[in-house]
Amino acid sequence: MSAIDGLPPLREVIATHQLSAKKALGQNFLLDLNLTAKIARQAGDMSGSDVLEIGPGPGGLTRGLLAEGARRVLAVEKDARCLPALAEIAAAYPGRLEVINGDALEVDALAHLTPPIRIAANLPYNVGTELLVRWLTPPEWPPFWQSLTLMFQREVAERIVAVPGSKAYGRLAILAQWRAEARIVMSLPPEAFTPPPKVSSAVVHLTALPEPRFPARAETLSRVVALAFNQRRKMLRAALKSLGPDIEDRLVAAGLKPTDRAEQISLEGFCALARQIDA
Ligand code: SAM
Repeated sequence: MSAIDGLPPLREVIATHQLSAKKALGQNFLLDLNLTAKIARQAGDMSGSDVLEIGPGPGGLTRGLLAEGARRVLAVEKDARCLPALAEIAAAYPGRLEVINGDALEVDALAHLTPPIRIAANLPYNVGTELLVRWLTPPEWPPFWQSLTLMFQREVAERIVAVPGSKAYGRLAILAQWRAEARIVMSLPPEAFTPPPKVSSAVVHLTALPEPRFPARAETLSRVVALAFNQRRKMLRAALKSLGPDIEDRLVAAGLKPTDRAEQISLEGFCALARQIDA
């Protein structure tokens, strides 16, 4: 029995339910419940919140979230093999864990949640960035969530918190920092996972700002930065050519130099450009 919840240790859970890790599902499990509780604590006070967890797997982080006091957890897991293990956790925390067997990219989780909502996940690598971009780019702000506490490959985490002029600066930094406060709050070596991935990981905590730092339409900003950084070595006037024949005028009207490159442009500059393009 484990100290935090009286349920069996995760190694035993994995053996009992024969949960050999599948690479195609990005399965690198956290088996140390002290560590999952520590990650859960990065999400802040969850006692008054519903928590959406993507990819609970055998339930290490799920157990951390519940033991640390989450009001309710909704866990969306694609791999049906994990359901019996998750059902045991639900039984130990009556009325506090709901599990949906499905693809997080397709499930309408919102229908199952009551605000305020926090999101916490040790994300599968293949869908992590896509989910993050979706959570950051709804047309309206504030979003349905208050905070995101997410495990990423270290390199992706660094892209989220990157500053202008750095190699990691790009679309993820702009979208994350435009509407949220983003910080790396924990670093984890490969050995923290079973099986160990090839690279290190980090937990990023993002808090939704009440309103974006600068006005812009999410769709336009997202399109502009994607184009600008797709050809990050090119000058903006060349990289953004497909936005129209008057792109140079729009760059100038936004206070930017057409000969600058994307990595030199601040968040404020990209928002001004997005507004000019919509004008
Ligand atoms: N949370 C567990 C932990 O920390 O040990 C497992 C993390 S593992 C990195 C990622 C989990 O996401 C796996 O359980 C995998 O089956 C699940 N997964 C992969 N793709 C998914 C998807 N599209 N929707 C929901 N779950 C998915």
